[in-house]
Amino acid sequence: KGNDGKFTVTLIEGDGIGPEISQSVKDIFSAAGVPIKWESVDVTPTLKDGKTVIPDEAIESVTKNFVALKGPLATPIGKGHVSLNLTLRRTFNLFANVRPCKSIAGYKTPYDGVDTVLIRENTEGEYSGIEHVVVDGVVQSIKLITKDASERVLKFAFQYAEDVGRKKVRAVHKATIMKMSDGLFLSTARDLAKNYPKIEFDAELLDNTCLKMVTDPTPYNDKVLVMPNLYGDILSDLCAGLIGGLGLTPSGNIGDECSIFEAVHGSAPDIAGKGLANPTALLLSSIMMLQHMGLNQYADKIQTAIFKVLAEGKTITGDLGGKAKTHEYAEAVVKAMK
Ligand code: NAD
Repeated sequence: KGNDGKFTVTLIEGDGIGPEISQSVKDIFSAAGVPIKWESVDVTPTLKDGKTVIPDEAIESVTKNFVALKGPLATPIGKGHVSLNLTLRRTFNLFANVRPCKSIAGYKTPYDGVDTVLIRENTEGEYSGIEHVVVDGVVQSIKLITKDASERVLKFAFQYAEDVGRKKVRAVHKATIMKMSDGLFLSTARDLAKNYPKIEFDAELLDNTCLKMVTDPTPYNDKVLVMPNLYGDILSDLCAGLIGGLGLTPSGNIGDECSIFEAVHGSAPDIAGKGLANPTALLLSSIMMLQHMGLNQYADKIQTAIFKVLAEGKTITGDLGGKAKTHEYAEAVVKAMK
C-alpha cells in the first residue's frame, strides 16, 4: 500500500481478447473507486541462456506487489515453447489453483444452484514434465507426488474452507490404483485433517466424483474439493461446464508470497479485437483478488452489479446469447453500481 492509500497491483493484460477484457476491469474498478493502482507489465518471453524466460521487469513487479491480475496468454504451438502459464506458476511457486463455479442467475444451464469450489495442486503430479523414451516405442512419464507439496495444498484447502465457512473438505483421488502416489496424498490429507477439528474430512474416488457431479452437483455446495494436479485440471473444466462455460469462470493461483488471478479461458483468437469478448470471467477473477486482499466491500459492490446485469439479460455478450459489445456490458455494470 502506497502513501496515497492505494494498493499497487500488477496487470498482465495478455494476448488476444486480453486487452479488451482488461479494459472492462479497469473501467469498472475506477467507477467503483477501488483503491488500486495498476502496474501494467509485458510478459512476452525473451531468450536467456537458450531458455525462454519471463522479462525481469514482470517478475520484479509481481514480486514487489505480491498480487497480479492476468489476462490469457497464447501458447505458441511447436517444439521448444514452454507454456508461459506454467512458467509463471513455477517462477512464483503458485502451488494452489482455486476454482469456484457458481450458477449465474439469468444464464440457464441444465443445472441450477451449482456452487462448487475446487482446489488443484498446481506444481507437480502429472505436470512434473519428466518424460523420456525407455526404448523405441515405449515412453515413460513420471507422476511426481511429494509429501511437502501435498501438505502445502491440503493445508491451504483446510484453511480456505475455514475462511469461507465451508464445513467439509473432500480429497479426490485414485489411491485404489495409484496406491503409492495418490496414497501419499490421501494419507497426508488424513493426518492433516486432525489439525482441523471443525472441518469434516472425507475422500472420494475421482470417477465417482465425476459421475455424481454431472448427476447432481448440489451436494458439493458445502464442500471444498482438493486434489492432485491433473484431476483438478479436468474436473474444474467439468464444473465450469455445469454453470455455462468459459466466459464465466474465474480462478486464483495462490503461492506463499505472490498470487495471480486469471480467467480460466484462453486468448480467444477467433473473436479478438472485435469487442465481442465477455469480460465476466476476468471480472470475477478480479473479485477473488479483492477478497484475497481483504477489500471485500468493493468485491461485493462489483459482484452484485455484475449479477444484476446478467440476470436482467438485456446487456449481455454474444457467448451468453446477447448482442452487447464488451464495453457496453462494462458500462451496464458501472450503471448498476450507482
Ligand atoms: P479459448 O478459451 O481461447 O477459446 C475457446 C472458445 O471460447 C473460443 O470459441 C472463444 O471465442 C471462446 N471464448 C473464450 N473466452 C471467451 C470470452 N471471454 N468471451 C467470449 N468467448 C470466449 O481456448 P483456445 O482457443 O483453445 O486457446 C486459444 C489460446 O489461448 C491458445 O494459445 C491457448 O494456449 C491459450 N490459453 C491460455 C490460457 C491462459 O492463459 N490461462 C488458458 C487456455 C488457453
